[in-house]
Amino acid sequence: PKISPFLEPGKTTKVGSLAILQLSRDNLQPVYLQAPSGKHDGYAEGAVVNTRYGSFPHSTMIGVPWGSQIRASKVDTGSRGRNNKRKRNKSDDDGKEGPAAIPEAKTEPESTPAEVIDDSSAATKKVVADVSGFIHILPPTPEVWTSSLPHRTQVVYTPDYSYVLHRIRARPGSVLIEAGAGSGSFTHASVRAVYNGYPTEAERKGKVYSFEFHEQRFHKMNKELKEHNLGGLVHLTHRDVYSGGFLIDGKSPEAEAIFLDLPAPWEALHHLSRRNPKNPGDKDWVSPLNPKRSAHICTFSPCIEQVTKTVSAMRRLGWVGIDMVEIVNRKYHTSRERVGLNLSMDRGVNNSARDVDEALARLTEIETRFREHAAKSKESDDEMDGDDDGGLIKMREKKELKGGKRRGGEKKVKVDHKPASPESFETPASGVPLWMEGRLITRGEPEIKTHTSYLVFATLPREWTDQDEAAAASRYPVVG
Ligand code: SAM
Repeated sequence: PKISPFLEPGKTTKVGSLAILQLSRDNLQPVYLQAPSGKHDGYAEGAVVNTRYGSFPHSTMIGVPWGSQIRASKVDTGSRGRNNKRKRNKSDDDGKEGPAAIPEAKTEPESTPAEVIDDSSAATKKVVADVSGFIHILPPTPEVWTSSLPHRTQVVYTPDYSYVLHRIRARPGSVLIEAGAGSGSFTHASVRAVYNGYPTEAERKGKVYSFEFHEQRFHKMNKELKEHNLGGLVHLTHRDVYSGGFLIDGKSPEAEAIFLDLPAPWEALHHLSRRNPKNPGDKDWVSPLNPKRSAHICTFSPCIEQVTKTVSAMRRLGWVGIDMVEIVNRKYHTSRERVGLNLSMDRGVNNSARDVDEALARLTEIETRFREHAAKSKESDDEMDGDDDGGLIKMREKKELKGGKRRGGEKKVKVDHKPASPESFETPASGVPLWMEGRLITRGEPEIKTHTSYLVFATLPREWTDQDEAAAASRYPVVG
């Protein structure tokens, strides 16, 4: 069976690949790449993704290394015009034969992976003239999937799930229970955490048992798991876990890690015991937990009242090491403070001739000042501060100076004022060394806007029977 592209995407894109198109930092769009066949008779090129950054035929995105930059193409919509069954107004295309129009971009990502954004009302839309934008094509990962997936519910985001998976000790080979599945954001992250990377099914270990009681969400999620080739590693059950628990056909999944994203986790907890909480002597009772391993749980609840109820139920059911964490995630935005260079790095925007001239003039000025500064610094190491040519230059100089012995006049440091590797600072778009354009500025969000949820963690120690004790005692005899 094929391995999921979320686990092993390969090196290059292929026909049929699920690709995540990164239009801008926070604008990600999932797309299944299609062969350039005549199937999409609207476009001569086959399937095309239209964005505000231009048009991107699938054919230009197939067979390229993941992470590639894809340039926009001029799309020939000639055949589309002729084949378009919809009767178009004369005024739509100024009476010309066939539309030369490239349909205006969709600015929002589609709610589901787009086969092709084939907007039949395009003829009535604005013409996007010269397209010179670009996008990046990314392999599917849980992180980009979380940012682009079709939302059916609130989802768990990366800062929360990365911490949760670490705390519940999800690792290659683990068996994990999750409820409810919702939109599958946590599911994708957890399956990668438990996948052990072995190529054959027999050797492959690690499994996620996921539960969802909402029928439509269950079906959508099942479809998605199949499309993502995750069916073998995720077992999805349509069930109300409060009443139905976590067994699979009456058998234990033998889980050791549990994540509950449910409105009332305390109502599901009694199923996650080692013995029947109402009748500990019940021999027929089957626990969903691995008897040989401690179980680590996390419940995810937005309200503190839910936390109180969960903690109380955990205490009564023998869970230990109970604690609560709230992930307060702050984004930092790092950018380069351009020193008057009007080199627009915005996507899709051509630098005009005027900009380039200005940029070159400014560059020459910077370079001159830089050389003067370098010459001065050669005379005196200590004259480095007070020049505003960019923090990066200063930083570099300081770093290099640190390497030698400066104090006590033991050794005069030879300062090479050229960057260690100029190529690495070159920006292909403008040809201007990045380090000359200004210093890096980092700004944190002024306030934390979002409360996600409270995370309650706890551990249920493993079973310890007389036989376990005897086996341990023979291996590690008690001395004395
Ligand atoms: N963790 C998910 C994600 O990252 O995409 C989101 C989960 S969503 C907030 C909660 C889900 O729990 C909903 O889809 C809901 O239908 C499901 N749910 C609620 N009560 C349930 C129950 N008793 N048994 C199973 N699923 C339940």
